[in-house]
Amino acid sequence: MKKDFSPTLLDFGPLQIYLARHFGFCYGVENAIEIAFRTVNENPGKRIFLLSEMIHNPQVNADLQAHGVNFLQTTYGEQIIPFDELTADDIVLIPAFGTTLAIEERLKQIGIAVEKYNTTCPFVEKVWNRSEVIAKKNYSIIIHGKPKHEETRATFSHAEQNAPSVVVKDMQQAKELAGYITGKKTSEQFYTEFKNQYSSGFDVKKDLQRIGVVNQTTMLASDTQAIADFLKQVMIDHYQLDETNIAERFADTRDTLCYATNDNQSAVTGMLETKADLAIVVGGYNSSNTSHLVELCEEKLPTYFISSEEKILSAKDILHYNFHTKEEILTSDYLPAKEPVKVLVTSGASCPDALVEGVINKLISLRNSRISITEMIEKFL
Ligand code: SF4
Repeated sequence: MKKDFSPTLLDFGPLQIYLARHFGFCYGVENAIEIAFRTVNENPGKRIFLLSEMIHNPQVNADLQAHGVNFLQTTYGEQIIPFDELTADDIVLIPAFGTTLAIEERLKQIGIAVEKYNTTCPFVEKVWNRSEVIAKKNYSIIIHGKPKHEETRATFSHAEQNAPSVVVKDMQQAKELAGYITGKKTSEQFYTEFKNQYSSGFDVKKDLQRIGVVNQTTMLASDTQAIADFLKQVMIDHYQLDETNIAERFADTRDTLCYATNDNQSAVTGMLETKADLAIVVGGYNSSNTSHLVELCEEKLPTYFISSEEKILSAKDILHYNFHTKEEILTSDYLPAKEPVKVLVTSGASCPDALVEGVINKLISLRNSRISITEMIEKFL
């Protein structure tokens, strides 16, 4: 029931869990993990490296490291093992987010078979293709994404080889960009304000006359849509266009979010229609798509972003991540004493289902559930 976004009620008596209709691993992540472990199994004795984190989940990455896989770079592109130490005999796995053309080229120069162990998600490649299509029609590319995120860096790298490109991280930056489109702000300001976010040779006066918007696949759908709508309106007003001729200045890209991001976000919106006491979102703290699910939940009810059941310390205390301040904090009395207590649960696209099961089991143990998770599963079979 792909379009049914109502949550599933797991009624444990004193505890009622409302599980999002879609949560957890997406196609791209499953595919990447499968390729990574297959590579490990098929290449005993070889040195295997991951360019950076396979996906933004600490348990999955720790598991790979335990199988002898080493990371070459941090999530933010800082080098851990110099490329100079690699040889043509080594295997380097490209993660699901893809990588920049410069890094790909560097690895090829060493003699590494980059194509063979590339786990770049097809939905990320779809964005690159979309950028290429609009670039060929002479639109500059506006990328809505987090400038330092691997996927956005990779998308930017692919986009800039085809067209002038600029990364916009949020609506605030989209509004600033509008000032350059309309000429209210000077070019000099642009180069400071968008430092490290524009392609080489970007000409503010010329390169913002025809634009198209693509996005990092895991951004909040409503944010991307709002930014695209806003910039479209800026073009309409500035060039005195209407819906019949807007294509002269603004490419119709629709959104370039992947299906998993869309479904997980829609499922959270559906889940939030249920009145509940709190929400628990499970996932890696540096996972972009997970933080967006947290953001949606936070608007409605107390929300706890945790990486595993270990963060639920007791019925009184929980350790959870505040992604706004980027710190883990301790909250007491998170679980109301009332019965039944209603908890919304979901997880990000890079979170193994076993972690969600662990969280549910922990909550059950704290609330003297009348039935076990195994009995609950049997009810659904
Ligand atoms: S979240 Fe989407 S784009 Fe990213 S890896 Fe998963 S399916 Fe691919």
